[in-house]
Amino acid sequence: MKRPIYCEKCYDEIEYCSELVVVFRFLKICAYHDKCYADEMKGLNGMVTSNTSLNSLTANVIVGMYFFLCIFFAIISRRWIGVPIAFILPCIRMYSWLAIERHLKA
Ligand SMILES: [Zn+2]
Repeated sequence: MKRPIYCEKCYDEIEYCSELVVVFRFLKICAYHDKCYADEMKGLNGMVTSNTSLNSLTANVIVGMYFFLCIFFAIISRRWIGVPIAFILPCIRMYSWLAIERHLKA
């Protein structure tokens, strides 16, 4: 089921995944048009908005590296608290996809 996704800056509907930027802002996942995100980063709100979008290839690589490094260090140090910590970023990335990205046209 599709639901409308609205930009946090201009409040217009975001229709396509190609114009979407999802960022982490004040412990909240926010969706922007790519042009609105650029405007947001130029202003004072750029101080509290994440510089890396959650729906980019860079974010996917960072999440993968974070996950495997946490698991690796948990295994070699035998401190198993690293295992649940390893799932924090993948869960945020999955939430971004489930809540926002899957509702848009490709
Ligand atoms: Zn917008």
